[in-house]
Amino acid sequence: MSWFRDNIDRMAAYVPGEQTGETDVVKLNTNENAYPPSPRVMQALAEFDPELLRRYPDAMATRFRRAAAKVLDVDADWILPGNGSDDLIMMIARACTGPKRRMAYPTPTFTFYRTQADIENAPAVEVPFGEDFALPLEELAEANAAVTFVANPNSPSGTAVPVEQLGELAERLDGLLVIDEAYIDFAEPEFSSLRLAMERENVIVLRTLSKGYSLAALRLGFAVARPAILEGLLKTKAIYNVGAVPCLAGAAAMEDQDHKNANARKICRARDKLSRRLEQMGFRVWPSRANFLMVRPPAGDAERLYRELKDRGVLVRYFAGAATADKVRFAVGSEQENDRLLEALGTVV
Ligand SMILES: *Cc1c(COP(=O)(O)O)cnc(C)c1O
Repeated sequence: MSWFRDNIDRMAAYVPGEQTGETDVVKLNTNENAYPPSPRVMQALAEFDPELLRRYPDAMATRFRRAAAKVLDVDADWILPGNGSDDLIMMIARACTGPKRRMAYPTPTFTFYRTQADIENAPAVEVPFGEDFALPLEELAEANAAVTFVANPNSPSGTAVPVEQLGELAERLDGLLVIDEAYIDFAEPEFSSLRLAMERENVIVLRTLSKGYSLAALRLGFAVARPAILEGLLKTKAIYNVGAVPCLAGAAAMEDQDHKNANARKICRARDKLSRRLEQMGFRVWPSRANFLMVRPPAGDAERLYRELKDRGVLVRYFAGAATADKVRFAVGSEQENDRLLEALGTVV
C-alpha cells in the first residue's frame, strides 16, 4: 500500500528553476529582478525588533495589508496576503476545485496551476492559446470551470491579453476568474485587471513582490478581491502564512513605489533593446510585457542552445513540451548581464 493518495502517486512534482550557488553565473532562468530592492526594505530589516520574533506574527499581516490597500486605493479587507502568490494559488485550488470541480487555463503557462489541480484531484482543462498567444476566450468560457487561471502577462510567453477580453470571460463564467498579475509591474497600466476585481463578482487579481519589487526570497504576494471571496479563501489558509519579517519588509517595499517603478522602467528599456538585437540576429521574439523574453533561435534548436549557454555560464530556461520545445525564456538582466547573454548567443548561434 502506498503512503499517498492515488492522485499524489500519479502526479508529477513541480520542478523549480535551477538555483546556483556559483557567483559568476549569469542567472536568467527564474525571472528575478535585475536590481536590488528598495533601501527602505533594508532599513526595515535593520530596525527589526527582536521581540517580534519571539511572538507569533499577526495572522492577517495587517501592517502589510494596509500598505498594499493604500497603494491600490482599496479597503484593507479587499487584500489577502500570502507566502508568495504560490500560497494564494494553493488556497484557491484547495477552496474551489476537486474531483467534480474543474480548473481551466490557457497553455503554455505557469505549470504550478496544473500541480495544484493534480493535488486536489481536480480535472485540468488545458486550452492552447490562439495564434500569437491570443486568449482562447470561447473555449475557456465553454469549459466553464470552477476556477479559471489566466496569467497576464503570461509566462513563459511574456505576452499580455487585453483586459476587455478578460472582462468578457469573467462575464461568461459561473466560476471564479483568477488573473495572475505576477509581471504587471513591467506592463503598461492599461493591462491591469484591478478594475475587473472591483466591478465583477467573480474576479481575483494576484500580485507578488517577487518580480517588480525584487523580493523573490522574502516570499510575499497578495490577492485582491471582494471580501466575500476572500472570506472563503481564508478558511484554507495556513494559520500564520506570512511571517513578521515579510510583513514589515513588504510594507516598506509597497511604500516605495518610486523605487519599484524606476527599476521597472530600466528593465523595460533593456528588454526592448534586447528584443531588437535578437531579431537582428535572426531570433523570433514574442512581444513581451514582462521582465523576460521568450525567443525561438533561428534553427529552432532550443534545447541545444540552453545547454551551450549553460556551458558558457549563462543560465536560461528551457521547457520541454510541444508548444515550447523550440523556444527558450530568459529574464532581462542588468546591462552587464545582457551583454554577456548577447556575447554567449553570438558564439553559439
Ligand atoms: C513568478 C510567478 C509567480 C509568483 O510567485 P511567488 O510565489 O509570488 O514568488 C506567480 N505566477 C507566475 C505566473 C509567476 O511567473
